[in-house]
Formats: sequence, structure tokens, C-alpha cells
Amino acid sequence: MEILFSILFALLGTAVGSFLNVCIDRLPIGKSLVYPPSHCDSCQHRLSVKDLVPVFSYLWLRGRCRYCRAPISRRTFWVEVGSGLLFACLYLYYGLSIELAVSAFYSSLFIVLGLIDLEHKLILNKIVYPMAGVALIISIFLPQPGIISLPWPAAVNGVIGGAIGFILLLIPALIFPRGMGWGDVKMAALIGLVSGFPLVFVALFLGIVLGGVVASILLLLKIKRRKEYIPFGPFLSLATIATLLWGSDVLNWYLGLF
Ligand SMILES: [Zn+2]
Repeated sequence: MEILFSILFALLGTAVGSFLNVCIDRLPIGKSLVYPPSHCDSCQHRLSVKDLVPVFSYLWLRGRCRYCRAPISRRTFWVEVGSGLLFACLYLYYGLSIELAVSAFYSSLFIVLGLIDLEHKLILNKIVYPMAGVALIISIFLPQPGIISLPWPAAVNGVIGGAIGFILLLIPALIFPRGMGWGDVKMAALIGLVSGFPLVFVALFLGIVLGGVVASILLLLKIKRRKEYIPFGPFLSLATIATLLWGSDVLNWYLGLF
């Protein structure tokens, strides 16, 4: 039964991933998410149902438009595959629960934020602000994923986490304004709202380590030059998704060391 549900959630994840691709393509250029319907950006041909089957259409068409053979971005495929795997993992971790729905929603949000930052070097206020409101409402009514029992309500915990996230990245942003932008600070506050105290520390610490290691490798291999800007949002996103999955395990392991 568990296998069946894992496959089901993987399929659901690929379908959600397909919608996330639409968000990543359209939100930064201010286009509506629903209109016009899916079409090829090269030949404008409207895509039919058989062109829109997640993962399989891309493989079947070998990554090209059916009508004009223009290449389809590889990111579309990897977001669908990635979301599918992620949803299966979230199901295996949380089981059929409200936490599963909440963590799947947040993971989707951070996939969109991280990839838009990777492609456009932008963290969009029009995503961060409304989602901060949504995260606050969720924390009032629904359990926060992976949260450890605390003496105060989850909403208070979300606000504490948000404040911690904001302050933790505000300091480096003030000291190194070239390396970190306001977008990163706002995103850190959102991460805090979503993950709460104390998991906000796990998410930001993971993000900073991940970003530091990858940036060093890119500089060492001369893929990036020293003055080139490397967006931090993708690392924060990856770290937050990892924290939604294993944050409390990491924290318990770390606290167990003392
Ligand atoms: Zn085309």
C-alpha cells in the first residue's frame, strides 16, 4: 500500500511540477498564470493534452516542440522529475497527514522562489509578501511540519522564527551589500515564518554552508569570476526543503552531541 501511495504522490508531484514551471516562466515577466493557455514560446502553437503529460511528453518529444522542433528548456523536465521525487519523499516521511500537505505546499513555493532567483537573480516581492501572510495563517490553523513541541502557539513560533531569519541575514546584508541583497533578507524572514524556531537556524545554517561550498568550488574551477554575483536564493531554497524533510532529525542529532 505504501508503494502505491508513493507512486501516486510522485505522479501528483510531477503534475504540480508542471504548474511550478508555468509560475517560474511567467511570474518574473508579469504574465498571467492562467491566460494565455500553455503554448510553445517559439512558434506560439497551443499545446495539446498529449504535449503536457509531465515528464513523459518531454522524453517522448526528446525535449523539442512537436510543431516547430524548438528545444524545450531542460529545467522544465528536471522540475517535474524533482517535484515528483520530492512529493514521494514527503509522503514517506510524513505519511497521509496535514503536515504532508503543508510541507508539499512550502516545498513548491521554495522551488519557484529558488529557480526564479537562479534564472533572473530576483527574489520577487509579489511572491514573498503574500506568502508571508499565507504562512502566518497556516501557522495559526495547521501544524508546522517537523516542529518540536514548544510552550507557545505555532503562530507565535512562526513570528519568532521570522524575526530570527530577518536579523540573521540583515547583518551580513549590511556588512556585504554586494554579496547579499534585500531579497535574501526578506526570503530569510519567510523561511523563519515557515520553519519556526528553532528550525530556522537549521535552514539558514544549511543554506549558508551550501552556498559557501558551491561558491568556493565555482570560483576555484574558474566557472565564476570573483566579482560575479552568485544568487543565494537557490541555496536557501534547497536548505529549506531539506529542513522541511529532515530538519528535526538534524537538530536532534546535533543536540544529542552535547
Ligand atoms: Zn514550437
